[in-house]
Amino acid sequence: MLVSHELRTKAREEFVDITRTVEEDVRSSGLKEGLCVVYVPHTTAAVTINEDADPSVKEDILRQLKVLVPRDGNYSHGEGNSDAHIKSSLLGVSQIIPIHEGRLVLGTWQGIFFCEFDGPRSRRFYVLLK
Ligand code: ZN
Repeated sequence: MLVSHELRTKAREEFVDITRTVEEDVRSSGLKEGLCVVYVPHTTAAVTINEDADPSVKEDILRQLKVLVPRDGNYSHGEGNSDAHIKSSLLGVSQIIPIHEGRLVLGTWQGIFFCEFDGPRSRRFYVLLK
């Protein structure tokens, strides 16, 4: 079962918590045991799993990614968004989460984040339940 979701990001760089949306997909699918794949079909966005209890964690990740991959680096790509492409590859465009007894197997502090690196714009992500 493949579920498509649209979202509208609000900043150039932003982590959007999509945990509840993915949990709802698992619930409504009725799947009890299996795998959940969250996939982002973009070259300047990503999906990651990290702490969603303390919002300063995602802010730290975004800030440190800017240090690692500065926007005005010496890049060949002419669109001015090379940093966003690199960040997308660093974090990756998919995550796999086990499903057990009808629920995502996430740790207490873990959440799933859609990672925008070249917004704001309309985006999409897919949830594959198998
Ligand atoms: Zn580009």
